[in-house]
Amino acid sequence: MKYISTRGQSPALSFSDILLGGLAPDGGLYLPEQYPQIDRSTLAEWRQLSYAELAYRIFSLYVDDIPAADLKALVYKTYTAETYHFARDADKASQVTPLTTLEPGLHLLELSNGPTLAFKDMAMQLLGNLFEYVLAKRGQQINILGATSGDTGSAAEYAMRGKTGVRVFMLSPHGKMSSFQRAQMYSLQDDNIFNIAVHGMFDDAQDIVKAVSNDASFKAQYKIGAVNSINWARVMAQIVYYFKGYFAATQNEDEQISFCVPSGNFGNICAGHVARMMGLPIAKLVLATNENNVLDEFFRTGVYRPRHTTETYVTSSPSMDISKASNFERFVFDLVGRDASTVSALWSKVDAGGSFDLNGTAHYDKLVNFGFQSGNSNHADRLATIRTVWAKYGVMIDTHTADGLKVALEKREPGVPMVVLETAQAVKFAETIQEALGLDAPRPLELDGIELLPQRVEVMQPDVAAVKAFIQTNS
Ligand SMILES: *Cc1c(COP(=O)(O)O)cnc(C)c1O
Repeated sequence: MKYISTRGQSPALSFSDILLGGLAPDGGLYLPEQYPQIDRSTLAEWRQLSYAELAYRIFSLYVDDIPAADLKALVYKTYTAETYHFARDADKASQVTPLTTLEPGLHLLELSNGPTLAFKDMAMQLLGNLFEYVLAKRGQQINILGATSGDTGSAAEYAMRGKTGVRVFMLSPHGKMSSFQRAQMYSLQDDNIFNIAVHGMFDDAQDIVKAVSNDASFKAQYKIGAVNSINWARVMAQIVYYFKGYFAATQNEDEQISFCVPSGNFGNICAGHVARMMGLPIAKLVLATNENNVLDEFFRTGVYRPRHTTETYVTSSPSMDISKASNFERFVFDLVGRDASTVSALWSKVDAGGSFDLNGTAHYDKLVNFGFQSGNSNHADRLATIRTVWAKYGVMIDTHTADGLKVALEKREPGVPMVVLETAQAVKFAETIQEALGLDAPRPLELDGIELLPQRVEVMQPDVAAVKAFIQTNS
């Protein structure tokens, strides 16, 4: 399997060659040159597989430059009940992504049972093992540089901790994350994990990362890399749980189901799109946004209008507070019939700070073939949904999952089971749970008191030179 760029001006590469990089050299995103097709009999055979075995079968279709036995070992090492052990029902931990049925035909797929209690662990844990393997094979090292306001940074750190050949330099806005989030990241004592808290906001941290990455000679000399959401391996890893969720919610391969996905950067639902393109019987992919409704607007109107950062709302589902959706270009590439010149023309507008409108074009007419629907949610909706789910089913959901459930209930069709992806555990957003229910979200026992552990963090001014100097000293 070779990978091609959505902008069509980069050579096709194999999996390991795109694993460590970010954007393609032409500014596009990598996608497999075609989607492997899964027929009904293969689906039937896969129904019985464990999570790790299913993941291995799916990845084997996308990865042809890692020997099968090595790939299998990496995958089996990643998807264990030990790593994903925070299941709502402890007996189901071995399923990795257990299904919670709220009522017949309405389910939650638990994706937040990994070490940082958010779905990003599903892909990031695999990335940690893949990076270590490929770097060792090539005799290389990498310094991962990133900025985080919460979930991504901690998922990256827990995936990369202790990995040979990898160091992580993670910038976060000083004093802006919850004390639980800070404790999750800063209490890591691994030699290869470096937390840098900068005075300022998330955008200040992000600007520093961009400035350092744009310094080509520094980037080359210090082997600066990233693990951001455009990484193809993250999308690939996420395909697996759409299959797993399908099997858990159906009896046979003639059934169709729909998924509802709380969305920000379009990474999670992009994997659902790929699963559907592979032939998984998905009726609808329902995209849910919060107040930051860039993507909902596109699916309703055909207009993609990234917001300026000053137009981005800070909400109680913060991991969906995005101004533009970094994986969306992958879907549009498929929508326009994989015509890279069309994608390049559309994104020349986006990259210049503009928008595009597909309404009235042949592309817009094709949208219905891809099964998408969308809706949005706001703070009051989140509170109401958290309350309803607690009162009606005795299940506590987090704010992002609440956005998903709110939209799922609007879009549900009779006779088609709806699976809402549960992207985080309630305890991560305990203040809003308190506001909605007047209750403390229960915390897994082993995370009790993590705020009291010693913390390892470097506090700095938002200064590019200081961050570079810190990387030089510690690499
Ligand atoms: C990252 C994240 C999302 C959004 O996922 P995308 O892949 O960016 O669309 C939703 N919920 C939570 C809890 C997240 O951490």
